[in-house]
Amino acid sequence: MKIPLTDLKRQYQSIKKEVDSAIRQVITNTNFILGKEVEEFENEIARYLNVKFSVGVASGTDALVLALKALDIKEGDEVITTPFTFIATTEAIVRAGAKPVFCDIDEKTYNIDTDKIEEKITPNTKAILPVHLYGLPCEMDKISALARKYSFRIIEDVAQSFGAKYKSKKTGAIGDVGCFSFFPAKNLGAFGDGGMISTNDGQTAEKLKFLRNHGQTKQYHYTMHGFNSRLDTLEATILKVKLHYIDKWINMRQKNAAYYNKLFSGTNIITPFVPNSAEHSFNYYTIRIKEKRDKIMDSLKENGIAAAIYYPLCLHLQEVHKDLRHKLGDFPVAEKLQKEVLSLPMYPELEKKEIEEIVRIVNLGMK
Ligand SMILES: *Cc1c(COP(=O)(O)O)cnc(C)c1O
Repeated sequence: MKIPLTDLKRQYQSIKKEVDSAIRQVITNTNFILGKEVEEFENEIARYLNVKFSVGVASGTDALVLALKALDIKEGDEVITTPFTFIATTEAIVRAGAKPVFCDIDEKTYNIDTDKIEEKITPNTKAILPVHLYGLPCEMDKISALARKYSFRIIEDVAQSFGAKYKSKKTGAIGDVGCFSFFPAKNLGAFGDGGMISTNDGQTAEKLKFLRNHGQTKQYHYTMHGFNSRLDTLEATILKVKLHYIDKWINMRQKNAAYYNKLFSGTNIITPFVPNSAEHSFNYYTIRIKEKRDKIMDSLKENGIAAAIYYPLCLHLQEVHKDLRHKLGDFPVAEKLQKEVLSLPMYPELEKKEIEEIVRIVNLGMK
């Protein structure tokens, strides 16, 4: 059985007519940059998240860079984050001129360990950048309490957690800003690159709108150094169609995760932990396997089943960050997890018999 990690073709087929006609309309109107569709999408997504503002940008990475700039994070500032994330998280901090300060992760949730944040705070700490890894929200009450106590900002990396909830709030609606990615494989994926920033602060939203458009505050008048980072009208129109289905799709992901969990119960596989405070949106379904992980990944591949390691090398050990002078042993939990995690196929349209086949092969490898 051939099973990809994510299957965008099945999703497209289910909404083809609606998406095709929306695209055709943009092409007919030829209003390709920041057309009315971008504003409509921004309004709809703000309503969905229950935030006041949302600003579409060119990618999730740009969302992070622009958010840091809008909050005035700059050279000499420190931003606390996790070493167990995609490179874009720290790339953005460096692009803004600031320094990433790593904090180890929690062994159960794989998210930043909120008991270890305080020891990383210095007079230069200006922000914390929690990543809701795989779709599981971080312990936001503790992070918010620290942010209040030490008066620093919270920039949520929501790239993997679209639609996830922490208590009654959606991720991206808790910190000062939330940074989203519409990379095709994310929960809400465009037909190319795209991103967005959510916020409840009007001034921040206004600044973000200037920053994404060359720092232009009035036509051909510039008051800050900006970027060319707008969300394409074509992408916005596709995302607007998909937004109407997103809750259904996330629910299907959650059902698939529950079925995986059920089939893995009673084995030595560690399935995703979800605290009572959180609703996981399962951008990835990631299990933990001690010792045999690589062997099992190989046997899945031999059987036509895709699997992936997010992430095989923690960011503090990456060559690009050698100036931070970290070494093996600095973040033991993250270093342990990089050897044990394995993400299995996960998408809304994944079928029961496919999950059964995946689990069968994993369990065979455990013998
Ligand atoms: C995908 C991702 C990003 C970057 O998003 P792009 O749209 O690809 O630029 C940032 N952070 C995390 C955790 C991601 O998974």
